[in-house]
Amino acid sequence: MNSSLYGKIEKAKRYQEEPGRIHFQTAQVEFRGNHDNYTVSLSNSNWHCNCHTFATGFETCSHIMALQRILHDMLDEESRSQHVELVPDAAVHAMS
Ligand SMILES: [Zn+2]
Repeated sequence: MNSSLYGKIEKAKRYQEEPGRIHFQTAQVEFRGNHDNYTVSLSNSNWHCNCHTFATGFETCSHIMALQRILHDMLDEESRSQHVELVPDAAVHAMS
């Protein structure tokens, strides 16, 4: 291996510990749900999912909310919070 790559590998390992350096601008993933696979996408800070819940007008769903949690540090404020404020964690705990 080219010796200059060793330094790059070490730098990559340090970056790995700092996900906040990464900002997802666009993304598309296949999400394996309990009943089906769904396509979830992010574009211009707007999420979209092809599942039934999203289609019914909530503009969010469990798949988007899961990705917002997983990618939290790598999302801008708008992508991080799309419609999450409608159902704060405290309310979810109260309902369960
Ligand atoms: Zn969904």
